[in-house]
Amino acid sequence: MSRLVVLGGGESGYGSAILAKTKGFDVFLSDAGKIADKYKAKLTEWEVPFEEGGHTEALILNADQVVKSPGIPEKAPIVKSLRACGIPIISEIEFAGRYTHARTICITGSNGKTTTTTLTYRILKDAGFNVALGGNIGESFAYSVATARYDWYVIELSSFQLDGMYDFRADIGVLMNITPDHLDRYDYKMQNYVDSKMRIIRNQTEDDFFIYDHDDATIGAELGKYELPMHQLPFSAKCREMQGACLCGDTFHAEVGDRHFSMPVAELQIKGIHNLYDAMAATMAAMAAGVDCDSIRKTLRSFTGVEHRLEPAGELDGVTYINDSKATNVDSVWYALESMTRPVVWIAGGTDKGNDYAPLMDFARRSVKALVCMGLDNAKLKESFKGVIPVIYDTNSLDAALTAARSAAQPGDVVLLSPACASFDLFRNYEDRGEQFKAWVREQQAKARK
Ligand code: ADP
Repeated sequence: MSRLVVLGGGESGYGSAILAKTKGFDVFLSDAGKIADKYKAKLTEWEVPFEEGGHTEALILNADQVVKSPGIPEKAPIVKSLRACGIPIISEIEFAGRYTHARTICITGSNGKTTTTTLTYRILKDAGFNVALGGNIGESFAYSVATARYDWYVIELSSFQLDGMYDFRADIGVLMNITPDHLDRYDYKMQNYVDSKMRIIRNQTEDDFFIYDHDDATIGAELGKYELPMHQLPFSAKCREMQGACLCGDTFHAEVGDRHFSMPVAELQIKGIHNLYDAMAATMAAMAAGVDCDSIRKTLRSFTGVEHRLEPAGELDGVTYINDSKATNVDSVWYALESMTRPVVWIAGGTDKGNDYAPLMDFARRSVKALVCMGLDNAKLKESFKGVIPVIYDTNSLDAALTAARSAAQPGDVVLLSPACASFDLFRNYEDRGEQFKAWVREQQAKARK
C-alpha cells in the first residue's frame, strides 16, 4: 500500500487526508501546531491517524509522497529532511487534480484572487452550472473531490499552491497581476515569486485559455519567455482596442472566440479600476466556459463584492467607514486609494512584509488628510509619510486608532482601513481585524443613537 503523509491539519490538509483515505492510501497526517477540534473529529470519523504538536520523523520520512499545506515554508526542518530524502512533495491541488475529470478555472495573482474567484463562481452558479469553489475559499478542492461530483471547479491558487503543482493543468488559467508580496518565502528574490505565479500556464495546450492583465508590465515581460499554445485572452483598462477585454469610454467589452460582450462600467456594483479588472477577468473566464452573455451581465449587476475588500462598514457623524482589512500589501492599498473620491483618513500598519511605500506617495499627497498608524512598530510607516501627509497619529490598538481617526475626520470624509501590512501583531488574522473594525463602528453608531 502506498504511503501518503499530509503535512498540516488545516482546511487543505484534512481534505487531502480524507481524499487519500478514499483512494486507498496508507495515510498519516502530521501538524507541528494544534489541529482544530472540528478537523480532528473528521479525521477520527474517517479513521485517519494523525499527530499534532510536532512531527515524528519516523512516521513521515517513510512516505512515498507528501502533500504539504501551503502555509508550511520550504525552510521548515521537516521539509528540508523530506527534500534530503528525495521524497516527492506536492500541493493539495496537484493531488486532488489527479482524481477528477471536472473542468477547472484557476485564478492566481498578487491581488484580486478572492474577488475574481468568487465572482466567476457566482456567474457560473447563477447560469445553472454544476460548479464548486476550491482553493483558498471555503471547503478544500480535495475534500470536495473526495465527497462530491461537480462538472466545474473555480479554484483560487496562491503561489504556495502553485509551487507544489507539476502535472496539473488549468482548462482556464487566470493571472490577475504580479506585484511584490510574500518575498520572505522566496529568498527575497522577486523573480522566484514571478516564476511561481507563471506556473499557472504550466501544461496548458491549444484547447485551454489563458486570461491575464495586459497592463501589468511584469507579466508582459514574462510572456516572451514561454511557449504559449493556448488561447490568450488579455484584459486592459488602458488599451482601447485589442483581443480579449478592454475599456472603451465608459463601457467595457470582451471578446472570446466569435462572442462579444459589452456593459457600461457604471452598472457594476463593485467600484474602482481594480474591480473592473476583476470583472473583466471573470467575464472572460465565464465566456470561455460557455456561459451566455445575458446571464453574465445579470450576475455582474448584482455582485456587491467580498467581505473585508473595500467593504462599506457604515456611517458615523457624516463620515463613511470602509473596511479594506484584506489589503495586506502596498499594491492593494494603491487601488484602494485610487478608488477614493473623498478626503481620506487612512488607517494603516501592522506586520511589515518588506514594504516600499513609494508607489503610494502621489495618492497620499493628494487625498489623505491624516494617517493613523496602527501597529506595534510604526516607525517605518511614520518615517515614509513624514512631510507627505499633514497629520500622522501613532497608535497601537484598534480602539486608539479609531478614536484618532474619528477625531481627524469631518463630515463628507472617509475613514479607510487599508493596512498594507499583515495583521499578526495585534490581531488573529485580517478577518479578525476587519470584524473588530466593523464592530467598533456599529458600537459607536448604537451609542450615537441613544
Ligand atoms: P487576494 O485573494 O488576491 O488577496 P482579494 O480579492 O482578496 O485578493 O483582494 C485583496 C485586496 O486587493 C483588497 O484590498 C482588494 O480591494 C484589492 N484588489 C482586488 N482586486 C484587485 C486587483 N485586480 N488589483 C489590485 N488590487 C486588487
